[in-house]
This record gives sequence, C-alpha cells and structure tokens, in this order.
Amino acid sequence: MSNYKLLTPGPLTTTVTVKQEMLEDRCTWDDDYKNITQHIRQQLLALAHVDEADYTTVLMQGSGSFVVESVLTTAISDEDKILILTNGAYGERIVEMAQALKLQHIVYSVPYNKQPSALEVQAFLEKDASITHVAVVHCETTTGILNPIKEIGEVVHSFHKTFIVDAMSSFGGVPMNIADLHIDFCISSANKCIQGVPGFGFVIAKIEALQQCKGHARSVALDLYSQWEVMQKDGKWRFTSPTHVVVAFAKAMEELREEGGIEARFKRYAHNNALLRSRLAALGFTPYISEALQSPIITTFLFPDKTFSFEHFYQEMKKAGFVIYPGKLTDVDTFRIGNIGDVHEEDMLALCEVVENYMAVKK
Ligand SMILES: *Cc1c(COP(=O)(O)O)cnc(C)c1O
Repeated sequence: MSNYKLLTPGPLTTTVTVKQEMLEDRCTWDDDYKNITQHIRQQLLALAHVDEADYTTVLMQGSGSFVVESVLTTAISDEDKILILTNGAYGERIVEMAQALKLQHIVYSVPYNKQPSALEVQAFLEKDASITHVAVVHCETTTGILNPIKEIGEVVHSFHKTFIVDAMSSFGGVPMNIADLHIDFCISSANKCIQGVPGFGFVIAKIEALQQCKGHARSVALDLYSQWEVMQKDGKWRFTSPTHVVVAFAKAMEELREEGGIEARFKRYAHNNALLRSRLAALGFTPYISEALQSPIITTFLFPDKTFSFEHFYQEMKKAGFVIYPGKLTDVDTFRIGNIGDVHEEDMLALCEVVENYMAVKK
C-alpha cells in the first residue's frame, strides 16, 4: 500500500479512522443510517452558522460538479437569468453548465490572478434588471485565489437577487457565516476541507429560496428540490446513497470538531500555507497569486527557471512520499501544492526539505 501525502485539492489525505468507518456495510432504510444523514445535515448548518428555521441542507450523490449542476438546473427557471463571475476553470465550468442547460446567462470574467469586483457586479445589476441570480466561486482552486464573497454578497442582497456560491474547496477550511454573507445556495463536497472521501456533495440552502424551485429542474436525478423533499422526511436519500462515504463523512465531521472546529482547521491550513510560501520563495519559487489574495487552500507556483521539469520534480516528490498537482494555466508554466487534508506542520517541513534538497542537486 502506498503511503503518500496527497497535496492536492481533493480527494485529499484522510485519517485512518475516517477510512476505517468504511469497513462496515450499512442499510439505507435502517433508522440508524437515516439518523446519520440527519445528524450530518444538522451539523452542516451549525458549521455554516445558520438557523434551522431559515436554512436546510441537501446532500447529493456525485462529485462536486454534480452538485453545482443540480443547483443550477433546480434554482434557475427558464424565466430567470444568471450572472456568472469567472476567474478560473471552476467559474468557467459553471458557464459550461449554463450553456448545456440553456440557461439565460451572462458572464463577468476577470484574469485568473485578479478578483472580480463588487462594484462591477453592481454595474451589471444596474444595467440589466432581468438578472435574477449571481454565481461566484469562493476559492478558485485553479489558482488558489480567494474571491471577495462578502462584498459581492452585499451587492447581490441589496438588489434582492439570489446568491449562489461554489465554496467547494473552502467550506470547512475557511470560517464563513452563510447567513451574514447573504448566500442562498452554498455548495461544497465531502472530499475537500471536511476531509472525507469522495462520493457526494451538499448544498446549504436558504429554505425560502429552495421552496421556489419546485419543478424547475431539467433533470430527474439532479433535481435538488425533489432530493430535499424526500430527504427532509426522515433522512432517507432519494436514490441509492453512498453509504460508506456518508459514514466516513460523519466521522470526518466528528474529527473536525475534535480539532477545534473550522477556526482551528483554518489556522492549521494557513500556517502550512505560510510555511510553504516562505520556504519555497527562498528557493526561487514565486507564487502566482499575491499574498493578499491567496487562500490557505492551495498555492500555484511559477516554475523557477527554464530548465525546471515538472515531470522530473513530480516523480522525485512522489518518491519522497508527496503527491503534488500540475498547474492549470495556459499562459504560464505552473504547478500547485495543496494544504488541505490531514497534513500537518511536520509534513510541510518534510516537504520543504525535500524541495530544498531537490533544488540544491539541480544546481
Ligand atoms: C473540487 C471543486 C469542484 C468540484 O470538482 P469535482 O471534480 O466535480 O469534485 C468545484 N469547484 C471548485 C472550486 C472545486 O475546488
């Protein structure tokens, strides 16, 4: 069995105890199992700092993208129009989904190393009164940039529009109050900062917004409203639920509490990230995103020089027990290192040492 630390944006390194939960088979219509689902749903509301009277959680099978698509197809009717903000591949994926679903949409796009501006969003909303929804990615995992959802949320709220946030790679790792941020649909998945294994995602939805979505979905399986209707009764999933993944997730949530909650996890990630940035900077690796805009989730580094071979570097890192991630930019040569998962200071220190030795031999 390999024992790599996955320094990737998910699936990521999980604890042995999370993996062990999957050794037991569970029955989907048994009360014990349904209660686990209900407990997860409640706990997610607590992590989001929202009230059960105003918000609900819907779990949905599939990877994160399935859940994003389920929100888009369910929340946006044929009469609605969505403004999509993009500064990376995940924002662009939302656009691709809007095209496939034939949603009325417009795109506000900025370069990958820039944040979208709340003022510009305001200008879009002033100019086009037919816009009903705004969607943005919180942490653009493409680069690791963190987008200003607070400022954007205030504008969206002041225009009484529906706010959709892809917080896939940040929820659970970056403290957020979903109600204060005016988010109507907050999307994340099991295999990111909660540190579970892949297989489902979840939506923390404002009940008032979700209630208006009946019958909109252009899909049976991805109908978030129907999923909610069924799950709301007693915690039974509408179709086969990923039982092993669900119990592993429940364990991962327990471990998040034991760690000290999202604040403590954020501190660990941020510390790991700061360590990585400073030690690699000393070796000539420049981060693509400026420090002020950088998330603690994942960092994109430029190649240090023309002779740098990512393939060789990757293989050497892997031999030392670390799996890193290729870049996703077309105009510059980059690679990425993730900080999320069961990765601690000693792992980061060991990684930095391996990179330092690599660069010393390379010279
Ligand atoms: C991981 C991720 C997704 C979902 O990707 P999947 O491969 O479908 O799990 C969506 N948005 C962001 C920002 C992500 O980091």
